[in-house]
Formats: sequence, structure tokens, C-alpha cells
Amino acid sequence: MIIFASDNPSIHSRNKVKEMFLENANKSGCIEVICGSMFSGKTEELIRRLKRAQFAKQKIATFKPSIDKRYSDLDVVSHDSHSISCTPIKSPSRMLQIPDDIQVVGIDEAQFFDESIIEVVQELANKRGVRVIIAGLDTDYLGKPFGPMPGLLAIAEDVQKVHAICVRCGALANHSHRLSASKKLVVLGEKDIYEPLCRQCYNKALQEDE
Ligand SMILES: [Zn+2]
Repeated sequence: MIIFASDNPSIHSRNKVKEMFLENANKSGCIEVICGSMFSGKTEELIRRLKRAQFAKQKIATFKPSIDKRYSDLDVVSHDSHSISCTPIKSPSRMLQIPDDIQVVGIDEAQFFDESIIEVVQELANKRGVRVIIAGLDTDYLGKPFGPMPGLLAIAEDVQKVHAICVRCGALANHSHRLSASKKLVVLGEKDIYEPLCRQCYNKALQEDE
């Protein structure tokens, strides 16, 4: 009898063990980064991972910079309204005050924190054994690496780039093209201010903007 790989129960159970591993990583800290353009589903992916940790009966704490006032001060709210409770903070050092039994720390909109967030998440992962899950924009509207994100990407053991869909051609989008006239870097917005574009359409749009 031939057993195909996909029918082999031992492979299924191995995969299952592998999938469960992240939720079981109580004792050893780690850093995960989810990044991409606006409308790429970063926050949805952050919430998905945090909810899985909650299902695994782990204690979580979630933070975001207090600059983000778009929706609610207490919830990480994604664009499709799935939410998880969250504490807005001014400085990353506030995260070091979490109770000792916290196993997972989620951070949304990490690009708006200063560089000190890098040391803080290292301390959480290295000294306190916390699994840190970070979501943020990898680049700003000029296409430049955003705030502390390059440093966070460098120290993470797991990085997931998520993509929106280019509104002009339907390809995968990795740029947030700003439609408003404001030159301010920190413009938090919805579809009337930004559009997700692929590299080619973004470069074309920049030429049109000039
Ligand atoms: Zn495109």
C-alpha cells in the first residue's frame, strides 16, 4: 500500500505540533514583526495572533502609541472592526511595567514610537521571556523606511510582509501613496488620504504629483 505524504498521519501531527509551537513558547522570548503598506491587513494579522494566544490561555498585553486617535483609545481596531483591547502609551518604556505573568505583548502602529522601542522589546524578549508581536508600516508616504521599523525588522526572528492590492492595476501593493496636500509625515488616515499602490504605479503617481 502506498501512503501519499499528505495522507500520512504522522506528517499531520508533526505539522500540528509545529503550528502549536508559537502559542506554547511560554518560556523563551521572541520578536515577530508584521509590516506592510496601509490597508495591507497588518492589524488584522496582529489581532489574529493575539486571539490565538488568548485561546491558548496565555496572558497578553497590547499597546499602541497614544498619537493614534482614529478610532478608540482602548482598542486596537482594524479597518474591518475586529478589535482587541489596547493601552495607548506615550513612551515604549511604559511596556516594561507589565505584570510578570504577561506572556505575549502586542504592539500596533509601531512606526510612530521612537528608537527606544528597540531596546524595550529586546529586554522583554531576552530578559523576561515575552513573545513580542509588532505591527507597523515599513515605509512612509515617501517610500522611506519608517521610524524604528528597520531596527525592529533587523532584530526580529520572524518577519511577515503583508500586502494591500494596488488600486490602479490590481497587483500586490507595497506603497502608501498620499493623496492629501499635507506635507506632514504623521497623517493618520483612511482611503481619502492614502491609496495602496504597487512599485510601478507608485513611481508613476510620484511623477504625476510633481
Ligand atoms: Zn499597480
